[in-house]
Amino acid sequence: MSASPSNSTGKYSVFAIAREAMRLHTGWKKAWTSPEPKKKYQVVIVGAGGHGLATAYYLGKNFGITDIAIIEKGWLGGGNTGRNTTIIRSNYLQDPSAAIYDKALKLYENLSQDLNYNIMFSPRGLLMLAQTEHEIRGYKRTVYANQLQDVTTEWVTPHQIKEMLPIINIDGPRYPVLGGLYQPRGGTARHDAVAWGYARACSAMGMDIIQNCEVTGVETANGQVRAVNTAKGRIECDKLAMIVAGNSSVLAEMAGFRLPIESLALQALVSEPIKPCCDLVIMANTVHGYLSQSDKGEMVIGGGTDGFNNYSQRGSWHHVEETVRALVETFPMLSRLKMLRQWGGIVDMTGDRSPILSTTPVGGIFVNCGWGTGGFKAIPGSGWAMAELVANGRPGALAAEFGLNRFKEGRFIDESVAAGVAH
Ligand SMILES: Cc1cc2nc3c(=O)[nH]c(=O)nc-3n(C[C@H](O)[C@H](O)[C@H](O)COP(=O)(O)OP(=O)(O)OC[C@H]3O[C@@H](n4cnc5c(N)ncnc54)[C@H](O)[C@@H]3O)c2cc1C
Repeated sequence: MSASPSNSTGKYSVFAIAREAMRLHTGWKKAWTSPEPKKKYQVVIVGAGGHGLATAYYLGKNFGITDIAIIEKGWLGGGNTGRNTTIIRSNYLQDPSAAIYDKALKLYENLSQDLNYNIMFSPRGLLMLAQTEHEIRGYKRTVYANQLQDVTTEWVTPHQIKEMLPIINIDGPRYPVLGGLYQPRGGTARHDAVAWGYARACSAMGMDIIQNCEVTGVETANGQVRAVNTAKGRIECDKLAMIVAGNSSVLAEMAGFRLPIESLALQALVSEPIKPCCDLVIMANTVHGYLSQSDKGEMVIGGGTDGFNNYSQRGSWHHVEETVRALVETFPMLSRLKMLRQWGGIVDMTGDRSPILSTTPVGGIFVNCGWGTGGFKAIPGSGWAMAELVANGRPGALAAEFGLNRFKEGRFIDESVAAGVAH
């Protein structure tokens, strides 16, 4: 939809809708512009996924830095941000994780208003099923940890779960439901809208979002970043933030350093739409499947990563079968649904299953990666913390523990055992 900027409407509101209805929707402004890159920017961000865009947004909003280019090799939000199953929660075990994920959740709660863009945040409640004795112990421990972190979660019994979710089979036989970790504030948001909302706000602040522009090289001199080489030419910068999820190691190699990251395919699938039957987000970590129902009525289903490293952006078939088979025991009604679509994304996994927000061995280069299978929920908090890191050149309280040095110093933030799965 194109319109002349002069008679366009900047702010989305009920009045704007009424006005545009009167003039047959000819006055809407493009949500973001698509300029050619300038020769130089104060900050270049590689990757227009949620994390890159949120970093740019909070650099502008919190630090007044708007001389920014966000460079994207495909289309904005076309990486993992547009491929995930949109689970949002902050019930993590370790304190640094709970802090950054809960900051993100708090920002999500008002993000539609903040961005003037409906991200369809739906805090319908999130339930992690305990289906082994080990999980009971683990989740009760998380409930206690969350109490100390001021994150409200509770332990719920199988009977309560059946009342909340009538379609569930709690009796097994292989993995009966023994209880659950419930976070009432957890839920979902529309993934594309999160990227689009941030993009629109960044563009409105005068930042350049440059799509279809792959970064192919990083120039450094005397240990300091100078420029990036891209499909649209050389672009100089004072600071460079690499926020490219599944391509993190590739970008780091261009700048001459290595990251403790493995890249793996993670996939998801959706069923045909059905009537509303599942008003919760469910994670079944022992059998390794999770599901929620979209606004359209589709059951959105995900499982684990492939067991081998790759960059193929699609998952293997046996995982689809394993995920659905695992969930059918607990949700027998799924066996009667047709599956419509299946897709994959490349996730970047660290050994402790916690992210990296860090300075790097090259001056002026910052890296944000390692969110693995669970970074959608973190987007606003990560952007907030990353903006602080890029603007000040050192991490603030939220990012302090997530530096690269933790891998040298053995200060792991171990979320892998605690969650079993991290979506
Ligand atoms: C199937 C699946 C299900 C998931 N489910 C959940 C979930 O339920 N909840 C949750 O919290 N998280 C989930 N995740 C994880 C979540 O999607 C990611 O952690 C998050 O989206 C990462 O965002 P990002 O902005 O860092 O990366 P991305 O959205 O991948 O953005 C990075 C961008 O960098 C671009 N890029 C890469 N290389 C270059 C280059 N050389 N030049 C220019 N641009 C480049 C890419 O094209 C991409 O657009 C899931 C992921 C997948 C794949």
